[in-house]
Amino acid sequence: MTLLRDFLEDVKALLGEDKIVTDPWLLIGYERDYWPLAVAMEYTGKWDPEPPKVAVLPTNEEEVVQILELARRHGIPVVPYAGGTGVLGGALPLRDSVILDVSPLDDYGWHDKDSMIVYAEAGVPLIDLEEWLNSQGYTLRHFPQSYPTALIGGLIATKSIGQYSTGYGGIEDIVLGLHVATYNYGLVRIPPVPRRSVLWSLKHLYIGSEGHLGIITRAYLQARKIPECSVPFSLRYNSFKEALHSAMKLVQQGTPPELLRVYDELESQSMLGESGSLIIGVIEGPCNEVDARISVMENTLGRGLGDSEPALRWLEERFNVIPKIRDLAEMGLAFDTIEVALPWSTAYTAYKETIEKLMEQEGIIYASAHASHFYLSGAAIYYTIVFELGKLASVYNKAWDIIEETSSRHRGTISHHHGIGVHRLKWLRLEYDDNTLRLLKDLKKLLDPDGVYRDESIK
Ligand SMILES: Cc1cc2nc3c(=O)[nH]c(=O)nc-3n(C[C@H](O)[C@H](O)[C@H](O)COP(=O)(O)OP(=O)(O)OC[C@H]3O[C@@H](n4cnc5c(N)ncnc54)[C@H](O)[C@@H]3O)c2cc1C
Repeated sequence: MTLLRDFLEDVKALLGEDKIVTDPWLLIGYERDYWPLAVAMEYTGKWDPEPPKVAVLPTNEEEVVQILELARRHGIPVVPYAGGTGVLGGALPLRDSVILDVSPLDDYGWHDKDSMIVYAEAGVPLIDLEEWLNSQGYTLRHFPQSYPTALIGGLIATKSIGQYSTGYGGIEDIVLGLHVATYNYGLVRIPPVPRRSVLWSLKHLYIGSEGHLGIITRAYLQARKIPECSVPFSLRYNSFKEALHSAMKLVQQGTPPELLRVYDELESQSMLGESGSLIIGVIEGPCNEVDARISVMENTLGRGLGDSEPALRWLEERFNVIPKIRDLAEMGLAFDTIEVALPWSTAYTAYKETIEKLMEQEGIIYASAHASHFYLSGAAIYYTIVFELGKLASVYNKAWDIIEETSSRHRGTISHHHGIGVHRLKWLRLEYDDNTLRLLKDLKKLLDPDGVYRDESIK
């Protein structure tokens, strides 16, 4: 407690009282992120975290560095908090840490308009940046489902991906440069360039670092022109297996749709009211090019691209998830979503085995999946599990075990885009062998010798 008091005195002296929040009512907002287990437990009155004692709100990069230096001096761990939409507890204030809220770092604008490079500080809401770009005919084309609330720093720290990823990639494909505040190297600046071949890639060290290696304070991002034409389509199949196979053909023929989603039978019915297995997609670009690509896709599949209606319906609803979470809780149900990625050669077998095992568990009402991010080598499979709230404690970790273990055994990854947070720690050993884990830990120790940043996950 004395350590914290001394730290706060120093922050106050350096930055002023207005940069510190100690009011317990205001601190409630930092008690959890969007980890579904925490949300469900909160609903049932069982979420009883140690509330954060303090949040600091720096307004510029230099202040972030100063706060980190003070934290090091006083031995106080720091957890960055951006939009709080992370789904694995990564922003939870563990270890008596101080919350560093990046939201006041909210400046953005053109860095180089001719090169379509924007800069955005860590606290800029993605939606603000996108709407500002749209007003001038530009876009980032990065649309995670948390688009209305996630902030730039959090998106980069978790290596997020958006709904148009098959065309434009993940956030790692639009980050050109970064600034990262550290206590031992000051402000690390990685200038934006089209591509760099100068030793190893520092940019990629920080993308997905989840607050373990420093605080991302500013990003340089690649914007692009808003596509001239955008054509939604759908395709109906008898089974998820057939639909997934068609998606593979579309992706591997070379010009896949920018947005592509394949729903299993259960989700086709529950989310889109369609029987069988549904593919929806959007093809976009210059109008004449879109027409040509549609022909190529139709030739590849040996059938015409179907009506736009299901895709249009999905596009309208695509960010509307929070009310559904509340509806479930009202019905005595909880849910979680778990995303993995697998090679094409094992994706369907792994999916089938996973769903069968999940459905054998008492307390699971249903388990379903869709695939929504695609690569030449494979696809991300996104499971949704609905639990009985009352049985959550006994079955929640078991469900995670099944998905992570099955994905790993079928040569997949344990996480495609949600990251590790605090919850996924248990399965890290499925991803890397002992030597590789040791490298990960040594790297963390090297960059955070005084243990100031988040470190629950890779001890
Ligand atoms: C409804 C919903 C839909 C979602 N859909 C998607 C989706 O489509 N795609 C996807 O990728 N994810 C999705 N997510 C997950 C989540 O939105 C992403 O992980 C997002 O990138 C988190 O951003 P945030 O600003 O909310 O970060 P936070 O939740 O505040 O933080 C996330 C992690 O990053 C750390 N962190 C935050 N800021 C910084 C910083 N400046 N420097 C270093 N570390 C930092 C935090 O300590 C924490 O560990 C969804 C979540 C919800 C609730």
